[in-house]
Amino acid sequence: MDQLIEDRVTMALSLDNTTRAELWGRVVDVIENYTTDISKLRIGPDLDPAKVRADLVPVNFDRPMEPAKALEFTLDILMRHQTHVVHPRYFGLYDPAPSAMGVIAETLVAAFNPQLSVWIQSPGAVEIEQLLVRLFGEKFGYDKSKVDGTFTSGGAEANHTALLTALTHAFPNFVSKGLRALSSQPVLYVSSEGHHSVLKAAQSCGLGTEAVREIEIDRDLRMDVKVLSARIANDKAEGLQPFLIVGTAGTTNAGVVDPLGELGDIAAREALWFHVDSAWGGAVVLVSELRHLLSGIEHADSITFDPHKLLSVPRSAGLYLTRHPNILAKTFDVAAAYMPGMNSSEQVVDQFRHSLQWSRRFIGLKLFMTLAVAGWDGYAEVIRQQLSVGEYLRSELERSGWKVLNDSALGVLCFVDRTHDDGALSTYLEAIREDVVSSGEAWISITRLGKSTPALRACIVNYLTRPDDVSALVASLNKARDNHMLHGHRGMNTKE
Ligand SMILES: *Cc1c(COP(=O)(O)O)cnc(C)c1O
Repeated sequence: MDQLIEDRVTMALSLDNTTRAELWGRVVDVIENYTTDISKLRIGPDLDPAKVRADLVPVNFDRPMEPAKALEFTLDILMRHQTHVVHPRYFGLYDPAPSAMGVIAETLVAAFNPQLSVWIQSPGAVEIEQLLVRLFGEKFGYDKSKVDGTFTSGGAEANHTALLTALTHAFPNFVSKGLRALSSQPVLYVSSEGHHSVLKAAQSCGLGTEAVREIEIDRDLRMDVKVLSARIANDKAEGLQPFLIVGTAGTTNAGVVDPLGELGDIAAREALWFHVDSAWGGAVVLVSELRHLLSGIEHADSITFDPHKLLSVPRSAGLYLTRHPNILAKTFDVAAAYMPGMNSSEQVVDQFRHSLQWSRRFIGLKLFMTLAVAGWDGYAEVIRQQLSVGEYLRSELERSGWKVLNDSALGVLCFVDRTHDDGALSTYLEAIREDVVSSGEAWISITRLGKSTPALRACIVNYLTRPDDVSALVASLNKARDNHMLHGHRGMNTKE
């Protein structure tokens, strides 16, 4: 290549050594400062689409930027237009502060760019993931000689995989002939508090959302097993084909665990596939004294577990685990003639014949490197500490007259205001949430339990959250409540 073209390639993509070194220096500084000083930042951004778009107006790809300028430009957008979920006073959805080793692992994955679809391309990476699959399968109580599984983009893909493997298991012709070859409609069961990804999976598997029987919950927000049994009997009598029960171990809303033992018994009796979605709650298998919360999960045919939730690795990393060693191969095996050196040996796994994805990034490395440094005990300690902060939040809320509605050991609290007549109304709670979030001091969400009862929701999602962060949240809630009452009075006065 002539020098001119060589220089252009360098300028466009690889950059020269000096520029790269400067950029890296800056990136490392920024990440370090972000990590150390995160608690000084305002958590929530200004949510104005016009402002965000206005800030993007200067971008013009006909006039490329200097690398340093592109970096500064991007940092500015990230700092200003971003809910800083890494903040210890973010009590939101499941967005943890990422582990340091996890961030380093992601950098390595970007640079080495390993392809994990076939074993021969990335034997080390595939074996690291397979090792983790075996070890986590064992932690959940599977026989280590039978465990199989795959890393996924997250819980949604793992649940989708569960539906596909359950269909393949129940209907041997499903892979070749599809659902149309079945004599009647297959149906599956999940509680009305189950994750919406199950509905989406049913929709995209061609089952349709009506194939999903949302089973009512009991007073503790757990799937009602009597209703489940009756519904299965009813569906069978109508000629439908039940094939799957999905239990949730740690509902997204309220951290509730379905009665897994009973669900497993019903699945066994009715010869249905039993899947447990423990995307978030599954992490307590690492804490010996909390393991009993998931009792019965070892009988699940398959399990969803998200390391990017309680195990605090950077997004995204999900796991699908199963105790049926051949089911993934049966479900996903395809022949690809253009793939050189495709491995036919039984000894190793070619992941593309084992999962929904083709190009596959090294999802498992951030978990491997974090676990290598923390160890099982380190992880258990962190989870214990995080859940005890959740217990502290419960007691602080109750001390200030907030009423906690859910019973969960998973560090999530759904609550209303006991001190105010309107304290359980959604408009009132929304006003409180608005105040807390717009103060920039803390971040919480609002939900509806059992799809009807409104409640504020605060979840300990960050291993850096400490009791003083909890106190600050409760102070902010109390202030919002005082404010609201004040405004309420003023409103009445002006009417008079
Ligand atoms: C978060 C969650 C999911 C979805 O997982 P993603 O990783 O976000 O795709 C599924 N089920 C439950 C119970 C969850 O909490």
